[in-house]
Amino acid sequence: MGAYHILVVDDDRGAARLIGMLLERQGYRVSVVYSGGAALDAAQADPPDLIILDVMMPHMDGYAVARQLRALPTTAHIPIIMFTAKGLADDKAEGFEAGVDDYLTKPVRPAELAARVKAALARGTSGVSPAPEDCALADAPLRSLIEQAADLLRSARYAVALTGAGISTPSGIPDFRSPRSGLWEQVDPLEVASIYGFRRNPERFFAWIRPLARLIAEAEPNAAHLALAQLEQMGILKALITQNIDTLHLRAGSQVVYEIHGDMREATCVECFRTYPTAPFLEHFIATGQVPRCQHCGGVLKPNVILFGEALPVEAMQAAQRAARECDVMLVAGSSLAVAPASDLPLVALAHGAHLIIINYEPTFVDDEAAVVIHDDVAHVLPCLVRLLEDEQR
Ligand SMILES: [Zn+2]
Repeated sequence: MGAYHILVVDDDRGAARLIGMLLERQGYRVSVVYSGGAALDAAQADPPDLIILDVMMPHMDGYAVARQLRALPTTAHIPIIMFTAKGLADDKAEGFEAGVDDYLTKPVRPAELAARVKAALARGTSGVSPAPEDCALADAPLRSLIEQAADLLRSARYAVALTGAGISTPSGIPDFRSPRSGLWEQVDPLEVASIYGFRRNPERFFAWIRPLARLIAEAEPNAAHLALAQLEQMGILKALITQNIDTLHLRAGSQVVYEIHGDMREATCVECFRTYPTAPFLEHFIATGQVPRCQHCGGVLKPNVILFGEALPVEAMQAAQRAARECDVMLVAGSSLAVAPASDLPLVALAHGAHLIIINYEPTFVDDEAAVVIHDDVAHVLPCLVRLLEDEQR
């Protein structure tokens, strides 16, 4: 692997060049830009291993740049050190909220700069591809399992992933079908979150789903989502089947995604069946709890998530079944395979001769038939799996 590439962003050209020179002296490859807009362009065109970002810049300040970098799939994982004359605790808090990994205060102290840069690169990115000494690869038995999984994926002709609630719990979204999630403590799920319950009492359904809708609206993709998106970009994963309704896979950059339990992007009027994008009324609903209604007929709008007792979306389910039949490796990540018919998909894959890789905290009913089983955190394991495969592609 060549020298680490560091992007330095500062409208103070003298400061930017000084930092660049100090870093070049330590053997890093350095690019220097003088505005937030140029930083976004440069980071997307040639994603660096680290970004050093000034706060106070005209037009777009460092916080805005950091937030945009975090929102873009190609740059979401790049570590950022904010470099600034501002050293107040509130400013630092704002930086960390914007997704910054570390903070340096001006004036430049070469030894501190060197140490923080080295540490940030060793920790690796904000998710994907951590340095080996800092990830699951440091644990020998775990490393051996991850290597086996990497071997299978490397030689796969058509690999697909199947994900469940466990992939989104590191993003703060509870498993809403799990009795332990707390979402079921005061209600009977089959009554509230079934299509019959919805028709009988939509107000009760919306009161129940409101906290979950808020969590989903505020959640960000985590290292596991980003790793799966990267496996697709690397040409290894051909499709991703998910039981989740939170759209985090798409927001992480995955392209071929079959959402077999529906999603929160659209809602359908229960009277006239017109569909609406949920985005325009979601914020209002979360703020007020008011039941969303059809602009045309006043009917209740039901989010296009699959409730208990409802048929699964035909197209997504057919695509998922086809992928399960055609794949030669199925990577199950963050699903305990407790909910049918998603739980049938690994059986379909096995019946057609595919190998299973299972990464999940809890055991599943097909563990015995899987080629590799890793009972660990998906957000810990998947980035390391990517790292192994990436090292070979270099
Ligand atoms: Zn209507």
